[in-house]
Amino acid sequence: MTALPLTLQPRPAEPVDPSVDHAILAIVSGASTAATCTTDLAAGPWDFDTRPGYGPGSSMGDVIPTGAPRQGELPAEYREASEAELHARITAAKEVLGDRVVVLGHFYQREEVVTHADYVGDSFQLANAALEHPHAEAIVFSGVHFMAETADLLSRPEQAVILPNLAAGCSMADMASIDDVEECWEQLADLYGPLEVPDADGLVPVIPVTYMNSSAAIKGFVGRHGGIVCTSSNARTVLEWAFARGRRVLFFPDQHLGRNTAKAMGVPLEQMSMWNPRKPLGGSSAADLADARVILWHGFCSVHRRFTVEQIERARAEHPGVRVIVHPECPMAVVDAADEAGSTDYIRKAIAAATEPTTFAIGTEINLVQRLAAQFPQHEIFCLDPVVCPCSTMYRIHPGYLAWVLERLVAGEVVNRITVPADVAEPARLALERMLAAKP
Ligand code: SF4
Repeated sequence: MTALPLTLQPRPAEPVDPSVDHAILAIVSGASTAATCTTDLAAGPWDFDTRPGYGPGSSMGDVIPTGAPRQGELPAEYREASEAELHARITAAKEVLGDRVVVLGHFYQREEVVTHADYVGDSFQLANAALEHPHAEAIVFSGVHFMAETADLLSRPEQAVILPNLAAGCSMADMASIDDVEECWEQLADLYGPLEVPDADGLVPVIPVTYMNSSAAIKGFVGRHGGIVCTSSNARTVLEWAFARGRRVLFFPDQHLGRNTAKAMGVPLEQMSMWNPRKPLGGSSAADLADARVILWHGFCSVHRRFTVEQIERARAEHPGVRVIVHPECPMAVVDAADEAGSTDYIRKAIAAATEPTTFAIGTEINLVQRLAAQFPQHEIFCLDPVVCPCSTMYRIHPGYLAWVLERLVAGEVVNRITVPADVAEPARLALERMLAAKP
């Protein structure tokens, strides 16, 4: 047998522990010299479920909306159980439930939860995975609130979608409230005239586009007003769809995905206006809004906002030849400085497709980066952010909550069901169908 050329030989597999929780515990106990954004991460989420806020992690500085769902107290038997005991209880409950339940795990979810997931993916992949199980009675979505809503929109009415911890919201989705968006729409109507009347070229003044990371109420708003949903994988195709129907786009909630996508399509920055819902006319002038091709809602993801150009420069200096891939929710300067930008699925596929041992510096959530490092030991894969700081809201789904909802199902009780009201669900589905029909 011919020996492989040296460059193609895989490195000896070094065991990589994909658990971010273990990394945090090692930091807190002094066994690791790495840094974390807060030592509170070492506590169970039930310690902060009683306080308003997103809890420790990347979103902890964000403002939680009044009336955000609060999780009731988790029974002590789950709070006090060891990791091994919870693992055994979840495995046993899943065995009893069999095909009656599907467990979905988001790419950014803790390893201790993801290990029990029947499917792992991004929010839309997971909602579609649930469609493959029309006879499952329950879909347990180990993600955040808007993802469970999307699964409810796409699943059958008799299927119960369960979010293991009701406090697992998403600070970015919460930055676009339905009241603020309705108010914005009224102000734009005063500025541009009737928003659903096309001009001589057949274009309406504004098409609303929402990122998948938004509430069902926002998806419903978009559906009612001739708009569409996008993901980070198809944002360009969706914006092309919108520009074929409107003079401009109102994009929410993530300004960075909107800006990065429009810029890549050739829209000049001068034709992008910001809309801050706390300011009259969103803080932009009427003249700027008249010229705008894209109006960007003032929202962001606190996980992806942590990445900086300095981190990329340091990675390049310390790892010559490093391949830098970041998520398009990162700020524009970071996307411009990276080698590539793409969705979580793009990042995973890019690493899987690399045939030679490669050093990757990745700009996305730490749980996904750690898992990729464990899955592809032939490559060196690290997170651009040297501080261990997971998505606060995803972190709310501790294995204790997963064990609780599954054991309640075994006992015949559905807890933490997420349901989208019919008057919101119908237009929200329309906006999702438009996205599925949009072709590049
Ligand atoms: S990573 Fe950002 S966008 Fe995703 S759930 Fe967390 S806060 Fe929301």
